[in-house]
Amino acid sequence: MSKSASIIFDKSVKGRMGVKLPASQVPSVELSKNISSALLREIPAELPEITEPEVVRHFVNLSTKNHHVDKDFYPLGSCTMKYNPKINDVIASMPGFAGLHPDQPEETTQGALQLMYELEQMMKKITGMSRVTLQPSAGSQGEFVGILMMKKYHEKNGENRKYIIIPETAHGTNPASVILGGFKTRQVKSDSRGRVDIEDLKSKVDAEVAGMMLTQPNTLGLFEDNIEEISSIIHSVDGLMYMDGANLNALVGLVRSADMGFDITHINLHKTFSTPHGGGGPGAGPIGVVGKLVPFLPVPMIDKVDNEYTLNFGTDDSIGRIHTFFGNFGILVRAWVYIRSLGEEGLKEMTKMAILNANYLKVRLQDKYEVPFSEGTMHEFVASGLKQKERGIKVLDIAKSLLDYGYHAPTIYFPINIPEAIMMEPTESETKETLDSFADAMLEIDDRISTDPESLKEAPITTPVRRLDETKANREPNLRWTK
Ligand SMILES: *Cc1c(COP(=O)(O)O)cnc(C)c1O
Repeated sequence: MSKSASIIFDKSVKGRMGVKLPASQVPSVELSKNISSALLREIPAELPEITEPEVVRHFVNLSTKNHHVDKDFYPLGSCTMKYNPKINDVIASMPGFAGLHPDQPEETTQGALQLMYELEQMMKKITGMSRVTLQPSAGSQGEFVGILMMKKYHEKNGENRKYIIIPETAHGTNPASVILGGFKTRQVKSDSRGRVDIEDLKSKVDAEVAGMMLTQPNTLGLFEDNIEEISSIIHSVDGLMYMDGANLNALVGLVRSADMGFDITHINLHKTFSTPHGGGGPGAGPIGVVGKLVPFLPVPMIDKVDNEYTLNFGTDDSIGRIHTFFGNFGILVRAWVYIRSLGEEGLKEMTKMAILNANYLKVRLQDKYEVPFSEGTMHEFVASGLKQKERGIKVLDIAKSLLDYGYHAPTIYFPINIPEAIMMEPTESETKETLDSFADAMLEIDDRISTDPESLKEAPITTPVRRLDETKANREPNLRWTK
């Protein structure tokens, strides 16, 4: 193991100090006099004792071992790994935001409540929905909350519906949310253009259908251009339309969810509105709903009454609280800053650039990599490595080889209706030069299938760890820290 790979505790030397704290201005007190002994440590916490430069080097070195958006291109389809402006972090860290206690009385947190109130107004404007809750902490939790609201809506109408329709290409969280919410899925097929097959949909809709969950643009990066017909088919049995809005990066400023007939939509703030994500860090998945579903929203909502921001605990119809306090507040601040920095025109430009970049990359690659559904690409596209597989190289080998070129691999083997899928989403924040270098690497990899296939099968060779067993960490997790 290289020395920078060791853990910080191994670098500890008794008595070393990183920072010297100023003398305290208050007298010290004996903890055991004020706190029950059951709550006190018996032995002091084991903390690493090291110098400040060692701390800095330790974490800087660690930060370069993994790939991240600050290091290089990260075209992970469906994930919108865009650059996150640092101003977002600076403002989210301001003491007035970061130091607030969520239990403080409302009159002392007016600024934070105002920010959340305004973010809701922005989300309403972007989606066309009547109200938006900011509580869910991820897209998947937003889906789950949306499903619970669908359930409550039908229950209030005295009905016990059983099914939610989802396309075969759906993101895995969609069926998971449906099942967790107590429904069953009915799968609808895709047509020859990679969109919902309308005839198949018609054959699956009846009075037992609670609604449909649809990603727009869909997971192939294609706009569901029959959306008005789809919505009216579902509405004809009083079903509800749920938009998986994780792909909102393709729509902001151009199309609103409500105008397409959707009744509920989630918004991934940590994708579209720039929060660092990917390591399981906090996110936010607000959901917006049309008027008839507002009473079912989680509480509290934030209202503005006579220029004061107050918490509204809603009606008995609310599905209740689904997160402590207000959700992941720091992420809400970042989204507010991002939207305010870009402004309305800037957001529209963001969307158009995201679509342009995906289309540019597709055109650069499509001679060598097949793109099965190429008509109408929005912010991402799905290529197929089938031609490469016929020559002996799997999409997995291509993805691993890209790591040696210094890029994060695209999403592979999803969506499942494309064999050897490679899903690429460049986002708007990349330059033409970056897209060109990435395309060159993809084309060079294709060349190497003829000249040097074995090296592709061995990749990656330049990363801190080589090719990993894809399932071992799941099947035999070792979570114990041993020295
Ligand atoms: C990312 C994503 C989700 C889930 O969002 P999380 O915030 O990761 O829970 C759902 N659907 C699609 C299409 C996505 O890309």
